Amino acid sequence: MNKKRLVTLLYFICHVTLVGYAQHFKAGAALRNITPNPLLPVSGGIGTPKKTVEKNGDLFVRALVIQKGDTKVAIVNVDNLGWPAALGNKSRALIKGIKPENVLIGATHTHSGPDAYGFPNEKGESFADMKYLDDCVKKIADAVNEASGKLEDASLKIAVGEAKGKIAYNYYADQLYDPRCGIIQAIASSGANKGKAIATLVNYAIHPEVIGSGRGILSPDLCGPLYDRIEAKGGGVALFMNGAQGGMVTADNRRENREEANNWEECKRIGELLADEALRIVDGAALQENPSLFCASRQIEFPVDSEIMRFILKNSPIKNKMSGENRVATQLNLLNIGTAQILTVPGEALPNIGYYVKRKMNTKQPFLFGLTNDAFGYMLAKVDFNSFKRYEYVSRTSLGEMTGEIYMEQALKLIAESPRPD
Ligand SMILES: [Zn+2]
Repeated sequence: MNKKRLVTLLYFICHVTLVGYAQHFKAGAALRNITPNPLLPVSGGIGTPKKTVEKNGDLFVRALVIQKGDTKVAIVNVDNLGWPAALGNKSRALIKGIKPENVLIGATHTHSGPDAYGFPNEKGESFADMKYLDDCVKKIADAVNEASGKLEDASLKIAVGEAKGKIAYNYYADQLYDPRCGIIQAIASSGANKGKAIATLVNYAIHPEVIGSGRGILSPDLCGPLYDRIEAKGGGVALFMNGAQGGMVTADNRRENREEANNWEECKRIGELLADEALRIVDGAALQENPSLFCASRQIEFPVDSEIMRFILKNSPIKNKMSGENRVATQLNLLNIGTAQILTVPGEALPNIGYYVKRKMNTKQPFLFGLTNDAFGYMLAKVDFNSFKRYEYVSRTSLGEMTGEIYMEQALKLIAESPRPD
């Protein structure tokens, strides 16, 4: 062996040892309350936000930061209908030590939170409270920075299983929904908190619209009781990431005689049941010590064919950035965390798209983070777009016929180009 090769070999051994030493998987979590005081009108979709007179529960931003070696990732959920990249990118710019493309920001899709889209009316006027949104932007960054500063050695418990009981159904066709619930629980593996949960992330497809926007109430809807239950049961900071809940996977608040329960009690029943199911499913999972972490991101582009969506994107005071004439770009992420693989969805994918993409993922534990990094409305397969009369509304509030197709193509490409999880 010549001298140069020996030096290279020694360097390699030292490098591997040092990197290996510093490469224990770490996790940290933090949250911020974003309940507006005084209360603000709430938005459940296009149109003028509705006045509120009371609140049920509080709105939060919740952040989980994970790191292994020099890969550092933040997963954030916001109690809101949708969280456009124009806002998310402002937080990304305030976050220290994590690459903007490694920050995933998802909305829970509560229909009882302030308007974050800046929906314009026919005259182009919007009633979004920019000061409130700016405050949320800062709190998202604060929560991530705090979680980042609290990183500690962690192991993971990961499971995907069927959540049983009366939680969700498809309003358009009862059975056409995905009952799988994915859970990632980070557990401190050394130090004073050893054995205690740092955070529990729940991934499930549902519309948190038990209360809705028309009752004068500001609320996290069923997500609030879900967080509370998980935290009360020792799950650490609870996070909720929605799934492929479009057209129209919603909370099963059905009563007899075609009536619905639309109150906070029902939010508690469903949120607590989902929390209990999540904890039951993850309970028996094997502990993953020092799991791997991988994060990829791509910019993907969609044409904006819908006149309504063009109008909203152009006239909103949050100043959405267009990537060309009637085109939008967004961040698509793929994460491998231990044995799980996660893909983001920049909107409300219909459940058939969710099933298809999950089936193509290289894991037995597929997670889909819906309404993450952007929320461009419904995403249908082209054969579904404007097909059934039932799909008129979801087609109208979609970017266009090809949105779902482009998403599936890009998602499959990213899966093929990424390594398999553990
Ligand atoms: Zn929706």
